Amino acid sequence: MTEVSLTSERLIGLASSLTYICPMTKVFLRKKIAPRIANGHPWIYGNEVEKIEGEVVAGDIVDVYYSAEKYAGRGYINPQSQILVRLLTRKQETIDEAFFYNKILKAWEYRQKLGYTENCRLVFGEADELPALIIDKFNDYFVIQTLSLGIDKWKDAIVKSLESIFTPKGIYERNDVPVRGLEGLPQQKGFLSAPFDTTIQIIENGLKFYVDIENGQKTGYFLDQQDNRRAIQNIVMGADVLGAFTYTGTFEIHAAHYGAKSVLGLDISEQAVAQANKNAALNGLDATCKFEAMNAFDVLKQWGKDGKKFDVVMLDPPAFTKSRENIAKALTGYKEINLRGMKLLKNGGFLVTSSCTNLVNPEMFLQCIDQAAKDARKRIRQVVFQAQSSDHPIIWGMENTNYLKFLIVEVCDR
Ligand code: SAH
Repeated sequence: MTEVSLTSERLIGLASSLTYICPMTKVFLRKKIAPRIANGHPWIYGNEVEKIEGEVVAGDIVDVYYSAEKYAGRGYINPQSQILVRLLTRKQETIDEAFFYNKILKAWEYRQKLGYTENCRLVFGEADELPALIIDKFNDYFVIQTLSLGIDKWKDAIVKSLESIFTPKGIYERNDVPVRGLEGLPQQKGFLSAPFDTTIQIIENGLKFYVDIENGQKTGYFLDQQDNRRAIQNIVMGADVLGAFTYTGTFEIHAAHYGAKSVLGLDISEQAVAQANKNAALNGLDATCKFEAMNAFDVLKQWGKDGKKFDVVMLDPPAFTKSRENIAKALTGYKEINLRGMKLLKNGGFLVTSSCTNLVNPEMFLQCIDQAAKDARKRIRQVVFQAQSSDHPIIWGMENTNYLKFLIVEVCDR
């Protein structure tokens, strides 16, 4: 017979698996919300709960039931958040390191299947059944956001999973986002691996870009437009192009690469403009492609009055609203900026325009552009209308996953 010795390591292992064998806290749903959860939505609000049996420890895993006999799934709880529970699984499976490893591996396999090899949003929260977790992959570097307490608790497991799936050169946390406050979490950023030079280089569509992981906006780079950037390929050939809200100049550098005659990019952030100019030089496109720090609202208005004209105008403004109360105001902003963009186009030019808030849905956005065209006395024809790149999957019925609108229209004088 083999003798089994219980070393301290084994004891710790045993203790941690016992935690999950112990009866878990049970959350019972009100009847009314059951269909939404049964149809796949993972969020349970506090007022959708009938009763809770057992202790509620913020961030812990709980079992959710439709009724005494009917199991709904397993997720993490935070009484401090409006979203009381976010479901991680519909099975009665153990939530442990292996669970996160398998989910992240599955997310990676899916991205690879869709053709993403180097850069991608590896995990897009709810759309990958890992609520409130964002992981962006920039070749061998990874940027993580854990936006709720329940997922933040698993940060070590997530980092370990990345280490064993990829052998990363670096992992960085960009949790310096206000939304963490809703979960009682502090804002923070820093290394989750050995320190590394946080200005890295990536290749997208054959072009090189510096990405500032530590101080750049959001996770450092907007991967959600990576497929859309290719959509401008034909319309920019030989064109004079104006880009506004350029950040690090990705669309504009693509335009220069695809054969634009001249490209001018505007962003209000001096830091973004400096990096955009560096990116243009990195690709040997700095003779064609220039960036300046300006307020796009003011400049577009002034240039409209001055009668300046371009063949292509590209607009990619930040989200004009983060709350439902401000949707009407946001729509006014989108209409205004697009109207100004249209007025700067030569007859038969192209407007390339985006909106990145899910609060303005695709239909509302198209209506807004239609109204802008009418007010500008232009006729428009739709060339391309799509969402974010497919490494950010859209889950039907989960409106926050369908957030980016990307539209190209031809704009003609009436
Ligand atoms: N097109 C970029 C992403 C743009 S993000 C890409 O594909 O990577 C939105 C940008 O708008 C930010 O860089 C922000 O600095 C800029 N911005 C915000 N308000 C602005 C304003 N009034 N004028 C010009 N740029 C502005």
